Amino acid sequence: MLKDCLFCKISEGEVPSYKVYEDEKVFAFKDINPQAPIHIIIIPKKHISGLNTVRQEDERILGCIQIVASKIAEQFHEMKRGFRVIANCGSDGGQTVFHIHYHLLGGRVFGWPPG
Ligand code: 5GP
Ligand code: ZN
Repeated sequence: MLKDCLFCKISEGEVPSYKVYEDEKVFAFKDINPQAPIHIIIIPKKHISGLNTVRQEDERILGCIQIVASKIAEQFHEMKRGFRVIANCGSDGGQTVFHIHYHLLGGRVFGWPPG
């Protein structure tokens, strides 16, 4: 856990959130400012600042997050026809919280390319 990291605090329960999934290594909660009818943030409990700082040793946890995204999506009928998973990285990528996270979005049709 990194002191003063919002998502570390959320995964520790120090900052309240609407939890949708938790296991030993992964935590998922509803986004406070949803961009779709379903908008869930999935994080590793381990503090990693972003996709630009991952290491080979993070291979397993990053794989687990994709499996968790798929499992969560299965639970929502709104995502039966599909969903989107996004990781914003760095300032150009639109990242605002520097604890790596994956947005799981569903319940509407998404355009491409993204803005
Ligand atoms: P980013 O912009 O870094 O890709 O995504 C950060 C996300 O975290 C944003 O969608 C934002 O709404 C969400 N967020 C920021 N602060 C909080 C918070 O305190 N609680 C929750 N549940 N989500 C947050
Ligand atoms: Zn953190």
